[in-house]
Amino acid sequence: MESVYIQSYHNGTLKEIAGILKDKLRCCTLCPRHCQVDRLSGEKGICKTGEYALVSNYSPHFGEEAPLVGRHGSGTIFFTHCNLLCNFCQNYDISHQGYGNMVTDRILADMMLSLQALRWVIWFWIRMVLQSGDYW
Ligand code: SF4
Repeated sequence: MESVYIQSYHNGTLKEIAGILKDKLRCCTLCPRHCQVDRLSGEKGICKTGEYALVSNYSPHFGEEAPLVGRHGSGTIFFTHCNLLCNFCQNYDISHQGYGNMVTDRILADMMLSLQALRWVIWFWIRMVLQSGDYW
């Protein structure tokens, strides 16, 4: 069975959705924080992220429960400024201190595809957007 993102790539909806999400950055409501800042002009909201993501780490990960990592582990991408701001964050050093590199959309996609090619399930990276539920 073909993945939904590959189907949407072939039928053109992936490009359409990407355009809609990019437009959302002008008055950002990508997550329930609804900061309404213009990330394309350099304004920053709760996530302190502009046009491009800041990634502190990406790697295979085996430190979660078995159903989440399976036999091959999960492909994990940590963004430097998590928007959830949990009081007892166990990943504070990599999720909140701003250490990381700015990555373009293409580089971020390459990270995901390289992890996928190694059969690691990706799930952490979508936390930020999935919270909104607007597009999924
Ligand atoms: S926290 Fe970030 S992604 Fe969420 S609405 Fe604010 S600027 Fe947008």
